[in-house]
Amino acid sequence: MKPLDGQTALVTGASRGIGRAIAFALGRAGAAVTVNYQSNAEAAEQTAESLRAEGIRTLTVRADVSNPDDVSRLVRETCTTFGTIDILVNNAGITRDNLLLFMKEEEWTRVLDVDLKGAFYCIKAAGREMARRRRGRIINIASVAGLTGDMMRANYAAAKAGLLGLTKTAARELAASGITVNAVSPGLVETGLIAGMAAIKRQKLLDTIPLGRFGNPDEVASVVLFLATDAAAYITGEVMVVDGGLYTR
Ligand code: NAP
Repeated sequence: MKPLDGQTALVTGASRGIGRAIAFALGRAGAAVTVNYQSNAEAAEQTAESLRAEGIRTLTVRADVSNPDDVSRLVRETCTTFGTIDILVNNAGITRDNLLLFMKEEEWTRVLDVDLKGAFYCIKAAGREMARRRRGRIINIASVAGLTGDMMRANYAAAKAGLLGLTKTAARELAASGITVNAVSPGLVETGLIAGMAAIKRQKLLDTIPLGRFGNPDEVASVVLFLATDAAAYITGEVMVVDGGLYTR
């Protein structure tokens, strides 16, 4: 028996990066997985193929989490295919960096729409399904930026800080329905963004991390997996920071 046998996980933004690692972690633990993505169908299909090659039941759904109709369809298609949603991971996220005084309205709005409103829509749609069955796990991928702020990322930091408020409120409201809601706040994780950075900038960032290296997506996924299992049944409204010591309180 695997810990998530018979369960279904919906992971937003699961075609690449951290979301992809989360899809594998939950799938290897026994869950069927919906791989959501927005635009890169090839990456999503590649991820789905690799999951299926490991015997993991997988559905791929293109949907923009900032669009409530898309989100309703995403949840509906997951339930139609797998019967339920037991685990929702709000991972889809974007950045549009600019100095605050030069930030365009569109840069502010788009990041808030995807990174914060997207989670709101997904929690509403999947949460109703979970509440009906009186069980569920919701895990929101925030960021250390939501705790500390981040240069050129007023939009992103505000969205991620908002996501923490949403997490704590949802934890309080949904507890009576048997649903736990937690957040994972990564620091600097080696995904496409960091890989493409100039060596000098990489080194500057590395110097700020007590453990002396970037995280890898699997190190975020293992914490998400923990929160999805029975081992975390008594944890709700919590923010788990996974950052190599970057943010020391
Ligand atoms: P990534 O590699 O850029 O992947 C982003 C994923 O989100 C892709 O699957 C993308 O799909 C999807 N996506 C983007 N916009 C979407 C939308 N509107 N609707 C649905 N899916 C959408 O990102 P990542 O670095 O793995 O980050 C994942 C999460 O971790 C984000 O919430 C991010 O803020 C957070 N985080 C990352 C780091 C880091 O260092 N990487 C640190 C802290 C927090 P398409 O390719 O099809 O658009």
